[in-house]
Amino acid sequence: MPKLAPPDKPAELNLCLQWWGIPGGEMKEKLDFLEANGFGAVEIPSGDWPIKNADAMIEAMKGRKLFLATACGPSDFSYDEPEKREAEVQKFLPIIEALGKMKSVGLIICPARGNLSEPGRLSGKELRKDFVENTGKRLAQHAAKHGTSIVLEPLRRNETPFLRQVADGARMAADIGPGATVMGDFWHMGLEETSFMGAFICAGKLLSHVHIAGLKERIIPGVHPEADQYVDGFKGLKLIGYRGAVSFEGGWPRNPADPKNDLPQEEKTKLILNMAKLLREQWAMA
Ligand code: MG
Repeated sequence: MPKLAPPDKPAELNLCLQWWGIPGGEMKEKLDFLEANGFGAVEIPSGDWPIKNADAMIEAMKGRKLFLATACGPSDFSYDEPEKREAEVQKFLPIIEALGKMKSVGLIICPARGNLSEPGRLSGKELRKDFVENTGKRLAQHAAKHGTSIVLEPLRRNETPFLRQVADGARMAADIGPGATVMGDFWHMGLEETSFMGAFICAGKLLSHVHIAGLKERIIPGVHPEADQYVDGFKGLKLIGYRGAVSFEGGWPRNPADPKNDLPQEEKTKLILNMAKLLREQWAMA
């Protein structure tokens, strides 16, 4: 095992769900479900959702044992036209303010998607420089000012050539400075990292969020229990004293009774509870 200074506070497993995947229609119902089932955090949509729902959410979260993790939505800072990059920055500033008001951990940002060798895109080197010194830095500074952060998310190579490893994201966040953090998504990491544990250790204190999905299929963990092994990654989270959210991001298995339609909510809820049990068991083993 690597020799690391023990964390100030021991790590804590805070299971989390993304907004549209939480059973219940109303805000209160969703939050009640999370609390009643021992979840520690909630992840909300990005776009104008945080702006429209900030006040209602602050009210609904009062007195609960839940914290507001991240907001998740698309972003792209790789356009070679400065005006387009500027428009992207401007779009996120009010969202960041709303997240700060709600005391959210931060706004998930994937700096670039798609093929950077296409016309109209910055090269990887140009993008890194511009993101660290300009677009990403300004968003991070704005986030720090409002008490939240931007959360860089490494993706798979088929989704972006730019940011694929947690260690790279952590370096970028460190170069940006205050207000910039990194996350790890077990699904992307399964292809891109040689070690879940090593990747999380590289991120250290800069790790502010974790996404989780099945490792065989990007669906809820526990459907393929033989493939869904997170103990090594959880060891890394324990070694760095991680106390952020571990949030399910993924789809659902096919409905065996009716493959063209979604699983009924009742079945989804069972799978959510099954996932929570599996992750708690693996956390205890780590
Ligand atoms: Mg993700």
